[in-house]
Amino acid sequence: SADKEKTSSVAKIKVVVRKRPLNKKEIAKKEEDIITIDSGSSFLTVHEMKLKASLVDLTEYLEKHEFVFDAVLDEDVSNDEVYRETVEPTVPAIFQRTKATCFAYGQTGKYKCSGKTYTMQPLPLKASQDILRLMHHTYRYRGFQLYVSLQEFRVSNVDSIRELIEKGNATRSTGTTGANEESSRSHAILQLAIKRSVVGSESKPARIVGKLSFIDLAGSERGADTTDNDKQTRIEGAEINKSLLALKECIRALDNDQVHIPFRGSKLTEVLRDSFVGDSRTVMISCISPNSGSCEHTLNTLRYADRVK
Ligand code: ADP
Ligand code: MG
Repeated sequence: SADKEKTSSVAKIKVVVRKRPLNKKEIAKKEEDIITIDSGSSFLTVHEMKLKASLVDLTEYLEKHEFVFDAVLDEDVSNDEVYRETVEPTVPAIFQRTKATCFAYGQTGKYKCSGKTYTMQPLPLKASQDILRLMHHTYRYRGFQLYVSLQEFRVSNVDSIRELIEKGNATRSTGTTGANEESSRSHAILQLAIKRSVVGSESKPARIVGKLSFIDLAGSERGADTTDNDKQTRIEGAEINKSLLALKECIRALDNDQVHIPFRGSKLTEVLRDSFVGDSRTVMISCISPNSGSCEHTLNTLRYADRVK
C-alpha cells in the first residue's frame, strides 16, 4: 500500500526542533527555562506558567504542552550535530536527482531571537565540503560540478564558497537597521546546485542533477504583531505571513502526494517551485527560545511545526 511505501522509503519531510540556551539578558532578568527535552524519545515539553484568579487571590499553576518531532535538539547540541541530523542525510540524494530544501523557522526580534541564523549559517558550507569531497573522490561523479547561487557562480573549492557566503551576509547587513533587523524582514535563500555536462557535449550548458536550498525564513511573529503601527512593517508582515502559510500548504500537499501543489500562494513558494517538483525532500528546523517570556511565540512555532508534520 501507499502507506507501506511511505514508511519504507526515506521520509519526504523531517521536522527538527532546536532549542537555544538562555542568553545573558534572560539570565539577568531571572527568566526561567520552560522547555524540557527528552532527545532519546524526541519528546519536548513546554511548561507554561499560568495565573488563576479567584475572588480572594491569584494562584500560579503550570500547564504542560507536549510535542513529539522527528528530532529535538537540546541547547548543548553543536552546529556540527545539527548538520548531521538535518542536511547531511540529504547530500547523497542530491547526486541522484533529488531536490532538498532546508528551512529555519522561528521568532525574531530585538530580544527574541530564536537562533535561526546561528543555525542556518554554517549549513551550506558544511554541505559544500561534503559535496565537493564526494565529487573529487568518487569515480562515478566525474563530470559533476557544483554551483552556488546568490546569483549563480561556479565553484570548485570551499574557500570561494565561504567568500560568497560572507559577501552575501555583508550585503544583507548594510541596511541602516542592522543585520538582525534586516534578516527578520526577508527570507534569505542560498542554493547549491549539482550539474553534470554530458560526455562528448561539454560545450553545451551543464544540466542540473540535484539541488540543495537553504532558507533562513523571516521572523514568524512579524505579521502577527498587530501592535506595530508602521505601515511598511505591516505590509511586510502580511507578505511574510502569507508566504509561511503558503509554504505550509505546499509542504502538506507534497507530503500527501497531491497532484496540485499551491505554489502560487506567495512569492516564496514560487521561488521554491522548482525545488518541490519531482523527487523532493524537506527539512524544517524550528528554532525556539527557552525563556518564559517567549512562551507564547514558542508555542506558536511548535504548533506550526506540528501542522507541517
Ligand atoms: P534569529 O536569527 O532567530 O533572530 P540568531 O541566530 O541571530 O537569531 O541568534 C541570536 C543570538 O543568540 C546570537 O547572538 C547567537 O549567537 C545566539 N544563539 C542562537 N542560538 C544559539 C545556540 N544554539 N547556541 C549558542 N548561541 C546561540
Ligand atoms: Mg536571523
